[in-house]
Amino acid sequence: MAVDNTEHTRSRQPSTSSNFATPRDTITVARTRIHQVTQHISNKLPSTLRKDMSTQEFKQAAHKLLVIPGPIEVADDVLLANAHPAMSHVSPDFIPVFGDCIRMLREVLFAPNSQPVLTAGSGTLGWDHVAANVIQPGEDALVLNSGYFGDSFAECLETYGAKVDQIKAPIGAKPSLAEVEEALKKKQYKVLTFTHVDTSTGVLSDAKGLGELVKRVSPETILVLDGVCSVGSEEIRMEEWGIDVVLTATQKGLGCPPGLMVLAASKKAIAAYEKRTVPPNSYFASWTRWLPVMKAYEAGTGAYFATPPTNLIYALHQSLTTITKSSPSLEDRFKQHVAASDRVKDFVSQLGLKQLAADGKKDGAHGMTAVRYPEGLKATDLLPKLVAKNIVVAAGLHKQVKDEYFRIGHMGVTVVNDKERGDIEYLLTSIKEALAEAGYKP
Ligand SMILES: *Cc1c(COP(=O)(O)O)cnc(C)c1O
Repeated sequence: MAVDNTEHTRSRQPSTSSNFATPRDTITVARTRIHQVTQHISNKLPSTLRKDMSTQEFKQAAHKLLVIPGPIEVADDVLLANAHPAMSHVSPDFIPVFGDCIRMLREVLFAPNSQPVLTAGSGTLGWDHVAANVIQPGEDALVLNSGYFGDSFAECLETYGAKVDQIKAPIGAKPSLAEVEEALKKKQYKVLTFTHVDTSTGVLSDAKGLGELVKRVSPETILVLDGVCSVGSEEIRMEEWGIDVVLTATQKGLGCPPGLMVLAASKKAIAAYEKRTVPPNSYFASWTRWLPVMKAYEAGTGAYFATPPTNLIYALHQSLTTITKSSPSLEDRFKQHVAASDRVKDFVSQLGLKQLAADGKKDGAHGMTAVRYPEGLKATDLLPKLVAKNIVVAAGLHKQVKDEYFRIGHMGVTVVNDKERGDIEYLLTSIKEALAEAGYKP
């Protein structure tokens, strides 16, 4: 069930009127930027050079609290960065901003030797990048399936001609390391993919354990982590753990509007691409096109294959700056997600509600929770009541059980700036009230 979120509504209670933790230096940078343009003003200049927005304090409109597992709430400073004036994608002012995004992404993933790729698109396009560049038609891929997104990744790989085997876990679980080990010993797989957080079930995979397993049992295999619902909210030590490709998008843990595909490839993944005997079988997702462009932006020269969404690059730059260069540290950011997740999971358990993950606090994601409706209640009994309280959660997604549960996202500013925002408290109180209004007694 889609829930309307387009209308601006009155401020919910407790108020959303507190300032987000907008790093002061960000505002200063924005102001300086505008000032640099405006200080040359004479009335002979065109109107684009005459506006001075530096006196405006930007604050987004009051709106329903968006707590789905992506898109998530976006901080004011990120939205303001997104409102950057139009820029040439090859201008000397823009190129280093793109270059910084590449550099900061390596920090978020603890992968100093990886090659990031950023293009217009969404997380789904990351699957196409893997399918078109890392594996060749006729080669074998093993997909670990812990829900909806495993099905889709497998379908994408097949579209490009890969031969796909899957290990499908029961709903709320993930394939065990023993099962994966057995499969890796039976067949030499070119690629092994897993969904770090399956957004349809809220199950968290053991990225570190899989990395160790592949190193030990099948070191040639390229290990691919679908991190669309985990980058920014879960710890990912890409290099130390031996992950070869991490793919994601901007609208989940990275806290930006949707529109950018974000990927990082290890040296091993790049080598697999370079050893191809046939060219990548995609045009827009071809690394032959994109790798030189990424290297050029990082080197400060810039290059063109297809226009990047320049405004989103500014938004991502702001968000990555917050994540990598301000308080809390990256490590504390992950800890805060664990703490918020525990709080949500304990709360729904205390209300007597079950989660999709067999043991939510142990096997569950830290940026989202998938909660079963109590006996006798369904989506239409609960979700509209939450919308009436200006809260948007997500309905179920897993094909077999989608009417039996709902999903709560707790990522990004909602977690990290919770002290000022009060999102989590308001969310939990509202869930309790909505359940009571629907006639549920714990
Ligand atoms: C959201 C999501 C995707 C798809 O990303 P889009 O940006 O919607 O294309 C893929 N995998 C996972 C795990 C996701 O959560």
